[in-house]
Amino acid sequence: MKPFDLVIENGTVVTATDSYSGTIAISDGKVAAIAAPGLKLPAEKTVDATGLHVLPGLWHVHCHFREPGHTYKEDFETGTRAAAAGGITFCIDMTNNTPHPTTLDTFEEKKAMVAPKAHVDYALYGGGLYPKTCSELVKAGAIGIKIFNTRHVKEVYPYITELGVLDHGILYELYEAIAETGVVGSVHHDDTEWVKRLTFRDFIDKGATSNADYMDAYEKGYMYGHGMVAGLASSLYYARLTGLRLHVLHLGVMPVGAYELLHHAKHDLGQDVTAELETAALFMNREQAEKVGPASYLWAVAPEAGWESVRNGVADFLVGEHAPHSIEDIADGWEDNFSVPLGITGAQEFIPLLLNAVNEGRLSLSDVVRFCALAPAQRFGIYPKKGALEIGSDADVTIVDLHKETVFRKEDMHSKAAMTSWEGMKAKGMPVYTIVRGGIVMDNGRILGEPGYGAFTPGIAAA
Ligand SMILES: [Zn+2]
Repeated sequence: MKPFDLVIENGTVVTATDSYSGTIAISDGKVAAIAAPGLKLPAEKTVDATGLHVLPGLWHVHCHFREPGHTYKEDFETGTRAAAAGGITFCIDMTNNTPHPTTLDTFEEKKAMVAPKAHVDYALYGGGLYPKTCSELVKAGAIGIKIFNTRHVKEVYPYITELGVLDHGILYELYEAIAETGVVGSVHHDDTEWVKRLTFRDFIDKGATSNADYMDAYEKGYMYGHGMVAGLASSLYYARLTGLRLHVLHLGVMPVGAYELLHHAKHDLGQDVTAELETAALFMNREQAEKVGPASYLWAVAPEAGWESVRNGVADFLVGEHAPHSIEDIADGWEDNFSVPLGITGAQEFIPLLLNAVNEGRLSLSDVVRFCALAPAQRFGIYPKKGALEIGSDADVTIVDLHKETVFRKEDMHSKAAMTSWEGMKAKGMPVYTIVRGGIVMDNGRILGEPGYGAFTPGIAAA
């Protein structure tokens, strides 16, 4: 018998519904066999997973890797390296670049630019700005189209402020165009004029701009708050009219009204809509957010709404939004947190935070598999190629040690941001192997893979 390329033995294999003791054998980048425990299979290479859990490769679907145009903040090499260190085998790059990939040329340029740099597999969003270009972006391999139905109060986000689609007529035409292609339209909702007016009236015009003032505005539902719920309400309706497969970004930042609207859309109307919930909405507390200041823009105002959405099916994916900035970018935020671009790091910290919740009994490992592998793979049409450990699936594997502990420290971060929103916080449970198509790219914290190993995965409607 020809030896398998890699055999993972003695581990507990976890699926989205259960777990079992077993051996995973890999050849040519695919899962070639799943065997009973104790069966010794011939192998070129073996990973002994005694005491460890073997999960389908985990996804991170909200990565701002900043390339092209803002590579002093992050680039594809550093961003995907952070992801590999954090147990992520597949990233979806969340675009707001310069140039923004809203046309075939800029999308192809981005594809070519990032290809030699990725440590893990990845997909790219097309930028939703022109209804006419959506179909060519999708044919070129975009996994979905990202729309910013938002603009920061001081117009520092998204980075090209023209990216914000605030005109509902254009938004509707974009939905029509994306629905035609069959891919998911992912939308950051807001009502920018509402947010601006009230935030200026009650905070900025009064000179109340400190980090604590920002937190108050956030708690009040101004910064990332009620305006988002208003944006979501019209978006859900337009999506129903046009047949758009809507994916709602930033559920974790929104007040309870957003969860209610989504519950109604999904469970009463049966609408084709999914939503992603930020881990920060579950685990970030105000004390930590004030400590790291502008290195975070959100904290869990209503964590119970978030946890309830995990239980009742309103949240479909968990994400650890990765939106890094440089220390210089956010330095003024301590004085005026309304004037700086807002972000949080997450690619490296995301999975340890979830594993910590598993250790606390708040999530199961099967939940982690469902929210971070199976559900996104199904939603974006990449299952069963990815998202599960089945015969013939890509051999993407995240092996975790539930006993290993860590303290998040900026010195250990692979991101260019050289900071972490989670600085000083502890987590119990760590990814110890990241395996992409049978190649070990991370082994106990050491990055083994070469940039460029990670492969572009086109969306369902690619030509
Ligand atoms: Zn984002």
